[in-house]
Parts: sequence; structure tokens; C-alpha cells
Amino acid sequence: MDDFIDKILISREEIQSRVIELAKQISNDYTNKEIRAVGILRGAFIFMSDLIRNISVPVSVDFMSISSYGNGNESCGVIRILKDLDKPVYNKHVLIIEDIVDTGLTLQHLKEVLTIREPASLKVCTLLDKRERRIVKNLEIEYTGFIIPDQFVVGYGLDYAEKYRNYPFIFVLKPKYYQTV
Ligand code: IMP
Repeated sequence: MDDFIDKILISREEIQSRVIELAKQISNDYTNKEIRAVGILRGAFIFMSDLIRNISVPVSVDFMSISSYGNGNESCGVIRILKDLDKPVYNKHVLIIEDIVDTGLTLQHLKEVLTIREPASLKVCTLLDKRERRIVKNLEIEYTGFIIPDQFVVGYGLDYAEKYRNYPFIFVLKPKYYQTV
């Protein structure tokens, strides 16, 4: 095992089977509808590509990039749209695909921004939910892969200082690797 890995929280196999379950549930819920999957860059791109390949109703994709963090790993409450959608979502069945919901500030903002554009429906699918850290109350999330404890995780699209996205599992770094980047 690589030296920087403290603990593997969710294995490749666990992710794969949960992604298939989520995709089945989503396919069922969207029977006879088309999904506009909105991936939140960059963390969600791996999860999104695995998820949509297992969805059996028509899916089109678009991406948005939102910044809610400064340089470190603590939320600073500042949210900016760095890249907006390429296509309008008016009258579309929008499914936001997130990597992780932490304080919920990013998602709350996103939902507000997209609601104004009058989609036919707006739902959220997140791979991870760090529920203990939620600041935004009553944030509705229709599909959740895993609820995880309050630990900073990387892998499967999630990064620390742009590293570790390429690992096929979710893990916790050894503390010294957070400090020396
Ligand atoms: P929120 O606005 O606090 O809910 O933060 C959501 C965003 O923070 C996610 O889309 C991630 O980019 C980032 N984030 C929060 N927790 C983690 C983590 O444990 N690992 C990697 N990124 C995280």
C-alpha cells in the first residue's frame, strides 16, 4: 500500500456496487424521461462517468465549476461560478452530480442558481455525504452513495491540492501529507 495512505475508507468494489445500485434507482425514477446530468467539476467527473454508464434512460451531460474553498480544506463560505453550463436547463430534468456534500454551502448555492433557470425538475446525486458537518439545514439530497464521518478524504475524483484524484478508492491521507503540500 502507498505510504501516504492512512486508511482506505471505501474500496473500489464497494464503490462499484453502490454506483450500480444508484444508477438502477435513478433509471427507475426517471422512466420515460431524459436526464440532463450536471457534473460539478472537478471532483465529480469520475463518479459521473461511472454512474451515467449504468443509467438506462437517455442522459445528456453538462458541467459546472463552483469554488467554495480557499487554498486549504476548510470552507470559507465564498462561492463563485468558475464555469457555467454550456446549455440552458429550462424544462430539462436536471440531476446534479456531486462528489461530496460537506457544509452544504456549495450545493445550496447551486440549487438556487439552477432553480431560477426553471428546469422541469431538479434533483441531486452525491457520492459522499459528510452529514455531521452540515451547516445548511434541510438540504434535500435525493441520492447518496455513502454517508462518511468527518474526515478529509481523497481518491475517485476527490483531491487534496489537485493530487490523488486518480485512485480508484476513497481514502484518508496520513496527516503529514496534508501539512507538507
Ligand atoms: P461544501 O460547500 O462545504 O458542502 O463543500 C463541498 C465541496 O468541498 C466538495 O465539492 C469538494 O470539492 C470539497 N470537499 C469537502 N470535503 C472534502 C473532502 O473530504 N475531500 C475532498 N474535497 C472535499
